[in-house]
Amino acid sequence: MDSCSKSIMDASSPFDCLIFDLDDTLYTTSTGIGEALKKNIDVFLVEKFGFPEIKASSLRVELFKTYGSSLAGLRALGHDISADDYHSFVHGRLPYELIKPDPQLRNLLLSISQRKIIFTNSDRIHAVKVLDCLGLNDCFDQIICFETMNPNLDTSTRPDELPVLLKPSMDAMKIALEAANVNPRRTLFLDDNVRNIAAGKAMGLHTVLVGKTVKSKEADYVLEMVKNLGQVIPEIWVSGMNGDDRRIRRSKSELAAILTTTAVVV
Ligand SMILES: [Mg+2]
Repeated sequence: MDSCSKSIMDASSPFDCLIFDLDDTLYTTSTGIGEALKKNIDVFLVEKFGFPEIKASSLRVELFKTYGSSLAGLRALGHDISADDYHSFVHGRLPYELIKPDPQLRNLLLSISQRKIIFTNSDRIHAVKVLDCLGLNDCFDQIICFETMNPNLDTSTRPDELPVLLKPSMDAMKIALEAANVNPRRTLFLDDNVRNIAAGKAMGLHTVLVGKTVKSKEADYVLEMVKNLGQVIPEIWVSGMNGDDRRIRRSKSELAAILTTTAVVV
């Protein structure tokens, strides 16, 4: 289908594009990947910088709160760390085998005809590995990642010359939306981080807080699991008819079939 026909087909859906965060959004925190990542960062701080082991965790938390990540904080404080070295250390030893294929989520994503984009603070190698583990590597049109937001970091002469840009900074959001080339008013943005959701709202995106049961102030929707998308935001699947101006909604039975194949098996 050419893009013109596709836009006619999707004319009645309020969304032209869905932008998904990756970690803790497309898979749950219960995998243990997030905890493993925190431990790896602590080990990085101890081994590479000689910070006392007992203080590593609190330093990591402080750097995250103030600068958005340990890498961003360490560089802002003048430590000359290459982003590639940092990412290969903290991501390279993650237990990726804990992330299992998710065919239900795959079916759900494939049933969405609009553009689907990954927007993650992680580096591209990590993003591709995670998508491979989940069996979702062919479900997205674009990956916006660390390298997209920080294309010139390697050319800086001092570590604090260029700030590391990450969600939720507005500069990072602007670069991402420009790279995605979307109209924020017709784009759904899904993320598990409340601050990222607030930044998305400030950019005019429709926002979905994932992994929580209660909406934050700037969230338009909340999903306990991304797989609940069909139940909570069925208007994603609204589509128009070819040729005439009659608008149809996906039939109840069609939507039920999608929801059944994406139902959570407890
Ligand atoms: Mg996340």
